[in-house]
Amino acid sequence: MSDDAPSFVRGIFAGAIHDSLLFPFPASLDERDPEETRTVRHLLSELERMSRGLIDSARFDEEETIPEEVIRALADTGWLGLSIPKEYGGLGLSPAAYSHVFGALSSLDASLGVLVAVHCGLGSKAIVLFGTDEQKSRYLPMLARGETLAAYALTEPETGSDAQHIVSQAQPNDDGSWTLTGHKHWIGNGHRAGVIATFAQTPVEKDGKTVLRPTAFIIRPDMPGFKVVSTVRKMGIRGSTQAELVYDEMRVPGDHVLGTVGKGFGVAVQVLNAGRMTLAAGCTSGTRKFLKQMVEFAESRVQFGRPIADYEITQRKLARTASDLYAADAMLGVLTQLADAEGGEYALEAACCKVFASEMVWRAADEMVQIAGGRGFVKPYPYERQLRDSRINRIFEGTNDILRLFIALNGIQGPAEELKELGLALKRPLKNLGLLSEYAASRLARTLGDTSTIDVELHERLQAHAKYFEKHVAELKDGAEKVIREYRKDVVDRQMELERLSDMAIEMFATACVLARTQKLLEENGEDGCARELALCDLFVVDSGRRFRASRGALQSWQDDGRRAVARAVREDGGYGVASALLPDEIPANVDGKR
Ligand SMILES: Cc1cc2nc3c(=O)[nH]c(=O)nc-3n(C[C@H](O)[C@H](O)[C@H](O)COP(=O)(O)OP(=O)(O)OC[C@H]3O[C@@H](n4cnc5c(N)ncnc54)[C@H](O)[C@@H]3O)c2cc1C
Repeated sequence: MSDDAPSFVRGIFAGAIHDSLLFPFPASLDERDPEETRTVRHLLSELERMSRGLIDSARFDEEETIPEEVIRALADTGWLGLSIPKEYGGLGLSPAAYSHVFGALSSLDASLGVLVAVHCGLGSKAIVLFGTDEQKSRYLPMLARGETLAAYALTEPETGSDAQHIVSQAQPNDDGSWTLTGHKHWIGNGHRAGVIATFAQTPVEKDGKTVLRPTAFIIRPDMPGFKVVSTVRKMGIRGSTQAELVYDEMRVPGDHVLGTVGKGFGVAVQVLNAGRMTLAAGCTSGTRKFLKQMVEFAESRVQFGRPIADYEITQRKLARTASDLYAADAMLGVLTQLADAEGGEYALEAACCKVFASEMVWRAADEMVQIAGGRGFVKPYPYERQLRDSRINRIFEGTNDILRLFIALNGIQGPAEELKELGLALKRPLKNLGLLSEYAASRLARTLGDTSTIDVELHERLQAHAKYFEKHVAELKDGAEKVIREYRKDVVDRQMELERLSDMAIEMFATACVLARTQKLLEENGEDGCARELALCDLFVVDSGRRFRASRGALQSWQDDGRRAVARAVREDGGYGVASALLPDEIPANVDGKR
């Protein structure tokens, strides 16, 4: 195993298990930092107090706003300075402490969670990570006190996922200031934020030519040319507000560049990595709440003479949610430790965690609606709102589709580099025909070697799981190599394969985190002392292994050609294109006369 272990997830694509990144599983907060734990408990008790009377999720949803007094109360109790360093008046919480309290807030009210996530986790975070001392001293204290809110304005009508190609531009002026022209939409807190981290293309010199590259700026609404055009109505998280902003030749002082000119995309990405951890924490806490609701509802609702919790279909839902939750919790434990490490690399792990937790909370919210039956669908029960609130997590801070591509394309870079020489030979397959297979075999044996094993001595109770895990690492590496060899640089367009590779990696990261956590519990408490957690571990690891094998089995599916063909036909026809089985002559619904 290599000592050079920058990323666990990237490692497994190349067959390397960097177990030192996961084992030993991080100590809990109170073991690590009693003082910070006191702060956490204080924040939670203040939240508890606010939850009685002040925080009214149904009202926020109905009125589509969070009242000023609630924001004031959050500010007065330190909740708006969570991630801001103590020297600037914030609480300077570690990633673990921040994730824990943020999860509690977000599960209490998802809209409040979004408001705080944008303020602490995105807008302020950009200044914490990239601000100069002067910028930090000027802006962070007021943000920590909650005198104003922060926002993070990256998305534009033309560019959402493709954020590198934002259209907004900033031109330098002779006096060192900048003139920003552009349009941002769906900007959380944008209607009332006093400090906004934003992004615009700026001219930079590259190889003797002037090219446009994104730069990050700090802007304020009092800068001439700044306009809030409108706010948006939404399916969920309706208490939070997203605004459309226009920069109409907005003058921005030169000392408001955040980071380096031309390096704004790096700023955006690093802030979003931290944001994805926060989002995963919110989803994990939300799922915990939904599971509690599921049990309460299912125990009290009687049908056919028995509580519906007695029925196995309900029990399956409870068990899946609980075992997923155990995994998400373990992933967060690992992720927060990686994020806390100096220079720690955790972009792929944060992406895995975000995808896993956002899909988990959506499933849980959906199952809660199902368990509640008609009551799941109607007001004043909270379940339909929770479902609406949960949906956005799969979309913002990088859609899960884009994150899956990000995970797979980054993951396969390791094997791709190792296979570069082979790739060169493959460029001339006819010429090298005789040599190729021998060359490929020897080269592969030499560079990639065997996949590694888990070096940590695992408790015997986990050893069977570990063997499967090691086998799956070999299979992921094998799958990644096959895909690279077959498609070479065209692999970037083989999204169906990439999606499956990514799903395999996410399941494996989750499993590895579960093993690390359970190992720690076994060491501390013995088998009898963690029977419940062991049961969750067994359930998750075996189910996750099945999902892994389903993705691996379908990795290079012959049916993908069929999928592409059907998609092509559907696109050509602008829809289904097939007559109704019930009344073939009738053209259903299509206004353009096509079927
Ligand atoms: C409620 C809400 C709050 C938000 N808050 C903020 C905020 O505070 N600040 C901010 O800057 N932004 C914010 N956003 C924007 C959010 O981050 C974007 O919506 C998100 O990044 C996706 O961009 P898009 O909506 O333009 O979708 P698009 O990029 O247009 O994508 C549409 C669909 O196509 C898929 N897709 C796109 N490209 C590819 C590809 N190459 N391959 C395969 N599939 C692809 C996507 O996965 C998605 O399913 C917010 C959005 C909402 C709805």
